[in-house]
Amino acid sequence: MHEMSLCQGVLKILQEQAEIQNYSRVNSVTLEVGELSTAVPESMEMCFDAITRGTLADGAELIIVRTRGEAWCRKCEDLVPVKERFGPCPQCDGVDIELRAGDALRIQELEVD
Ligand SMILES: [Zn+2]
Repeated sequence: MHEMSLCQGVLKILQEQAEIQNYSRVNSVTLEVGELSTAVPESMEMCFDAITRGTLADGAELIIVRTRGEAWCRKCEDLVPVKERFGPCPQCDGVDIELRAGDALRIQELEVD
């Protein structure tokens, strides 16, 4: 499953950061998941739960923050909201757009002990 490897990636970062920041427990993780990313939040929560069992993040809460898709349309010279990764501009229907936000998957905040 796609989400499984994403969660493994998150756990790896948590473990690396534990050494750098010197913590031994993760209480909660706030994860930014763009609306255009392929990760399904519900699956992320399930996988995170399973993968962190017995680790420093065992029982940690996963808080998912969704960010909207946003792109720069060269024709409109405007930032426009997009619903699909390769969708057209909602204003002019053009495809000369550049994705600016909404496909990210990154850790925003960590609560640790
Ligand atoms: Zn446009």
